[in-house]
Amino acid sequence: MQDIAIAGAGLSGAVIARELAKAGYRVTVFESRNHVAGNCHTQRDSETGVMVHVYGPHIFHTDDREVWDYVNSFERFLPYQNRVKTTSQGRVYSLPINLLTINQFFGKTLRPDEAKDFIASRADTSITEPVTFEDQALRFVGPELYEAFFKGYTQKQWGCSPTELPASILKRLPVRFNYDDNYFFHAYQGMPEKGYTAMIERIFDHENISIKLSTPFERSWKQHYAHVFYSGPLDAYFGHEFGRLGYRTLDFERFTYEGDYQGCAVMNYGDLDVPYTRITEHKHFSPWEKHEGSVCYREFSRACGADDIPYYPIRLVKEKEQLAAYEEHARRETGVTFVGRLGTYRYLDMDVTIREALDQARAFLATNQRKSA
Ligand SMILES: Cc1cc2nc3c(=O)[nH]c(=O)nc-3n(C[C@H](O)[C@H](O)[C@H](O)COP(=O)(O)OP(=O)(O)OC[C@H]3O[C@@H](n4cnc5c(N)ncnc54)[C@H](O)[C@@H]3O)c2cc1C
Repeated sequence: MQDIAIAGAGLSGAVIARELAKAGYRVTVFESRNHVAGNCHTQRDSETGVMVHVYGPHIFHTDDREVWDYVNSFERFLPYQNRVKTTSQGRVYSLPINLLTINQFFGKTLRPDEAKDFIASRADTSITEPVTFEDQALRFVGPELYEAFFKGYTQKQWGCSPTELPASILKRLPVRFNYDDNYFFHAYQGMPEKGYTAMIERIFDHENISIKLSTPFERSWKQHYAHVFYSGPLDAYFGHEFGRLGYRTLDFERFTYEGDYQGCAVMNYGDLDVPYTRITEHKHFSPWEKHEGSVCYREFSRACGADDIPYYPIRLVKEKEQLAAYEEHARRETGVTFVGRLGTYRYLDMDVTIREALDQARAFLATNQRKSA
């Protein structure tokens, strides 16, 4: 039996560990934190009993049937549709911007075709080649919707003016000309009944897998293993040799409330004079549970320091150059596969994370079974 090490007990590490364990490998998983599930970690709030998404709200959505069947084989998913609201300039609106948002915002009763013409008339057609996020938003929706729904939120989320961000961030017209306020278009959407951590614990539950919590994997340990799958930060693996890859981190300010604080799971705040980007009221993620008390997180975004948790990769010009240097090192590092959101420095939704992990495990097994045949 060959020994495999996996750094990181998030979704990437769990799926790869399971596939390799099933194929007969002995797998040791190292995790820096004192719990599994990485950033998808859920736990019950000790005061209210509500299931909390500890590192920010996570909604499972996918078009990938195999991935949907995979998660459902470990945990029952209950129906959940993400419907986000935003508070802007003293009023509440529906997101993503849809016909209700447009009609409420402009005080109109437009039908879809009328709304299309109306938004086109607001758009700044003098911008023929948008370079920045701001250009792109103005060209798509015009100044009013841009100011209310994009400008402040984007500035708070990324810590810079939308005039410093590339137009490519806003690829398509971010407006729906109907009353569909379901945030995601995917065929399958839901929430794990007992939380993501319960699901991931079940993925890990195999006799060939052992987990070492509170144990950060070190590069020098790779010599003890036939292969390493590393889902920690790419730059940390190489001792930050080319500097730190830029991330945004999040701070959560917890507060409790008796009853229903905001009536929905996620309320965004677009105005710049509100320092947080959104408030998450966690009990609305489990509508099948009943709780009198409520726990909410105010979410603040800021630059990620050396001791902070990396959340969103920034990937502007500076990071792209550093990333190329790290990727070159990663290609040359034998016996290690860099996986997941931190190992590849990309934002990955959970379904994409699982798809990539399944593919990486299968590619490894195919190559190694060929070698041993
Ligand atoms: C705020 C936020 C909201 C999100 N919302 C959604 C959503 O609604 N829907 C969706 O599909 N996706 C969402 N995601 C994406 C989701 O979190 C990722 O898809 C998922 O976490 C990726 O899993 P991973 O295993 O690659 O990484 P992670 O979950 O980050 O796991 C990596 C693990 O490696 C550990 N580690 C790091 N270095 C080491 C080391 N040297 N040794 C050992 N362990 C180490 C870390 O502690 C961590 O536990 C969201 C992400 C964020 C940041």
